[in-house]
Amino acid sequence: MNEADRNARHAARMARKKAAVDAAIAAATDERGLLIVLTGNGKGKSTSAFGMVARALGHGMKVGVVQFIKSRTDTGEEAFLGRQPGVEWNVTGDGFTWDTQNRAQDIATAERGWAIAARMLSDPSYQLVVLDELTYLLSYGYLDADVVLDALAQRPPMQHVVVTGRAASDALVELADTVSVIADEKHAFRAGVKAQPGIDL
Ligand code: ATP
Ligand code: MG
Repeated sequence: MNEADRNARHAARMARKKAAVDAAIAAATDERGLLIVLTGNGKGKSTSAFGMVARALGHGMKVGVVQFIKSRTDTGEEAFLGRQPGVEWNVTGDGFTWDTQNRAQDIATAERGWAIAARMLSDPSYQLVVLDELTYLLSYGYLDADVVLDALAQRPPMQHVVVTGRAASDALVELADTVSVIADEKHAFRAGVKAQPGIDL
């Protein structure tokens, strides 16, 4: 095939593709608040959620963030995004369960965090709510899964919510509109690299 034939074929293929893409875009007409679940063992769940916080702020939206399990107070996301106008940033965790080693305290902390989240989920002025590491509180049974799922389902219709954390339950995945499962192919930590500012915190 000569170059002119290849170019003509390419143009025809792209025209067919454009028709299909345009039809799919034309068919997607709904507008509503979305529930996004970012789960899996790979790196990139919380940072993806914070990317959406940046996007939403760029659109002048009001954002609420609750970080449920937090082992450090010196993260770049909190230092930068937490002080932007339009964000309410809450850190409610005392750290990982293997650090606290205190179930009663973990449950009390989880409930404190959930009270903040529940307030945001019933207030339509929050256009995006990020519930970072919420899945752990469900898998440990620190929060009642039905209460959490009901609050997510009953939230204001235009409110977007992002939930992060490993091992999202089937019920949460079922309720969600968009679910990404990030795979753990490789992580530098296993090669002995300590957590790096700007990348891991
Ligand atoms: P990130 O905040 O970087 O997007 P994440 O939210 O997907 O990570 P978490 O389990 O919440 O994952 O991990 C928080 C911290 O642990 C980050 O410093 C991250 O780099 C690191 N981490 C994430 N996944 C892994 C992994 N598979 N092995 C080792 N460390 C990890
Ligand atoms: Mg995370």
